[in-house]
Amino acid sequence: MRSELYIDGKWMAAANGGKFEVINPATEEVIHKIAAATAEDVDVAVKAARRAFDKDGWPKLSGAQRAKYLRAIAEGIRARQAEIARLEVLDNGKPFPEAEWDIADAAGCFEFYAGLAEQIDDNPEEPIALPDPRFTSKAVKEPIGVAGAIIPWNYPLLMAAWKVAPALAAGCTVVLKPAEVTSLTALELAAIADEAGLPPGVLNIVTGSGSVAGQAIIDHKGVDKLAFTGSGSVGSKIMAAAARDIKRVSLELGGKSPFAVFDDADIDEAVEWIMFGIFWNQGQVCSATSRVLVQEGIYDRLLARLLEETKKIKIGNGLEEGVLLGPLVSQRQHEQVLAAIEAAKAAGATIACGGKRPESFDKGYYLEPTVLTDVPLESDAWREEIFGPVLCIRPFATEEEAIELANDSRFGLAAAVMSKDDVRAERVAAGFRAGIVWINCSQPTFTEAPWGGYKESGIGRELGRWGLENYLETKQITKYVSEDPW
Ligand code: NAD
Repeated sequence: MRSELYIDGKWMAAANGGKFEVINPATEEVIHKIAAATAEDVDVAVKAARRAFDKDGWPKLSGAQRAKYLRAIAEGIRARQAEIARLEVLDNGKPFPEAEWDIADAAGCFEFYAGLAEQIDDNPEEPIALPDPRFTSKAVKEPIGVAGAIIPWNYPLLMAAWKVAPALAAGCTVVLKPAEVTSLTALELAAIADEAGLPPGVLNIVTGSGSVAGQAIIDHKGVDKLAFTGSGSVGSKIMAAAARDIKRVSLELGGKSPFAVFDDADIDEAVEWIMFGIFWNQGQVCSATSRVLVQEGIYDRLLARLLEETKKIKIGNGLEEGVLLGPLVSQRQHEQVLAAIEAAKAAGATIACGGKRPESFDKGYYLEPTVLTDVPLESDAWREEIFGPVLCIRPFATEEEAIELANDSRFGLAAAVMSKDDVRAERVAAGFRAGIVWINCSQPTFTEAPWGGYKESGIGRELGRWGLENYLETKQITKYVSEDPW
């Protein structure tokens, strides 16, 4: 396990020697200590990233040259997939097969953006037709500069990949701060990038707290672009910092995503997608389908099947065979989710199953998968992100009502619909005010497709070609080509 900051191609302790503890959420044991970066360390990292961008020539490399590094990083991740997945489980708590999936996805993300980097060479400029024949004009794309990336703890390596891969492909250099509760695999990414020969300063990883290291990144004048995934409250601070310095900004914040299941849906299939949508990664997923709406005709049957299946979920240490639900990521998250369940009860909701720490565990941040019914529409349980394995379910009568309930939220990250009537499913999908809509499924995520939210769920899109655009500026070059004097 690495424990130092990775800055300018070198491993180093924090300037003041500060460290913080890494806790295994399955055992509550301290398993490691990691450097806590200060504002001084962040300054060194940003200056290294600036030099790599302004002087050393990273943005001047061809897309194909940058793609070679990205492909080498993808290979490096793949070569150590099981080992890195194990670290992710120790740090985050998720079941090992889920972690393996994440690590494979992270490698795939680097490979995908290697492909897009190569395409930059194929289409370096776009001609622009002007009404005045004395001029020609073209648009070219150029990297924004130094990107400050701040990521959460729910998909530690994957979230790093979603930001680092498109930024490097575009020609930006990066200072990345992982979440303080899950920094281990981001440091492995630095080691892999180093082995891949990535030039010094192109990727810098500073571990530490949000209030010190994170704040120093967002306040630094040498950072041109901020890319963030996490809570709305921190997102708001990041946008305010970006506004002050006119930094480019992209935000991927939370959600309270609805899933509308119509009478004609197959109940077993619906239950499978619902469970995947809310219990995968212990429900700590920004797009989790946490509000399930079921048409009246099948509501009772579907709820009964859902409860039956939910009670079968094997809870335990993510490294144990067959475990489907690990511990929540931290004591803080565990306390917050339990408090949200208590508040739901106080507001009048019924706990149909779960709702507490499983009796068989006296250590670890475990929580039973929880289904809430009778949740008042005005309660926080229905309206606010809980970010745990907690599902709210309620019946609806008509298609109009389903769409209205789904859209009655300040969030708009994802939404899902299930119906055998394809015309209706498409109509409902069109009616959802959300950046990601799933029909007859919930949560499948592809690196090729745009990811991001409407309303308070964020600004900008990650993944696909949209993710690359996040790190590019557009330059107009117009030339006077007439022989006549102006
Ligand atoms: P958070 O927003 O506090 O932290 C996310 C990242 O921001 C971390 O790296 C953190 O260190 C950093 N950060 C915190 N304060 C900062 C500051 N002032 N300046 C710069 N960076 C700062 O999220 P959290 O504490 O990890 O979780 C709290 C809630 O956020 C969760 O309960 C959940 O609702 C939500 N969340 C959403 C996502 C998502 O994918 N959208 C992911 C994790 C958490």
